[in-house]
Amino acid sequence: MEEAKARHSLSDIVARHTNLKKRGPRELVGLCPFHSERSPSFEVNDAKGTYHCWGCGAAGDAIRFLVNKEGMTFIQAVECLMGEAFPVISDEERAKRKAEDERDMAERIALARSIWSRSVPASGTPAEVYARSRGITMDLPETVRFVMTPRWRDPETGEVGRDFPAMACALQDGTGAVVGVQCVFLAHGGRRKYERIKDDGTRAKAKLSYGAVIGSAFRIGPPSDHLIICEGPEDGLTLRQQLPDKTVWVACGTALMPRVSIPSEVQFITLAGDNGSAGRVAVDEATAAYMRLGLAVGAIFPDPPFKDWNDQLRGVRN
Ligand SMILES: [Zn+2]
Repeated sequence: MEEAKARHSLSDIVARHTNLKKRGPRELVGLCPFHSERSPSFEVNDAKGTYHCWGCGAAGDAIRFLVNKEGMTFIQAVECLMGEAFPVISDEERAKRKAEDERDMAERIALARSIWSRSVPASGTPAEVYARSRGITMDLPETVRFVMTPRWRDPETGEVGRDFPAMACALQDGTGAVVGVQCVFLAHGGRRKYERIKDDGTRAKAKLSYGAVIGSAFRIGPPSDHLIICEGPEDGLTLRQQLPDKTVWVACGTALMPRVSIPSEVQFITLAGDNGSAGRVAVDEATAAYMRLGLAVGAIFPDPPFKDWNDQLRGVRN
């Protein structure tokens, strides 16, 4: 099975269904073949042989793609991969890709750490203004800081755009090391999130993540036997404010909810989902993933019609 998965570039298989553009050495991005969208959120990693959609949460490998997209059975998918349907890659090429991918990840973590090292405490900055504007009145955790950093950078040349203000949330791996940052870009001195409609009519992202995003979490509170896991930083701050003695960790992405590295002291997880289909799917997948680790898992949702925990805190109905 591993041999079947590693014989090809996943991008050659996915390319039967969507156009992919190169974004990193072994990373490609395109419109998701599993849901309808106008801006690309479907990522394929040819070094790892995995795909992942930031919009609908679809994720998996070559076998899962053939099963879910082409309607094959598991056996048919393995047979298809062992056959001649797609170009076969050599062992040397595979080793080279793995090395490139590791170098790429090391560079991303270094970038995230450089952003974090330039950040300052949130107190008195637009990051604090933003948190207060979202109804967060508690003292902010040390994992939230303020930074001026470019929204745009060219991964090939290293060229960067101008600095923007951002609330920076540290992303820590299973050992507690900072391996990433999620920046919530701000406007109007922090009274709002950054907003811009791009030329193609889509909305520019207000939140960008840097470094190792899979497995890491924005931690509000130290590891404990009971963890609350949620999607976004505003929700995490909201839940912590409402449950001050609980540890809340933020996956920083709907599709990342099932993928947080869980330290050994954790025994019980409460998944605090968002309402809506993507939120429900993420909670279902996360429930299955954490139960497989032998953990007790429960789920809570905001009261409808509130979309998320912060909307509920502020009484914002959609
Ligand atoms: Zn999708």
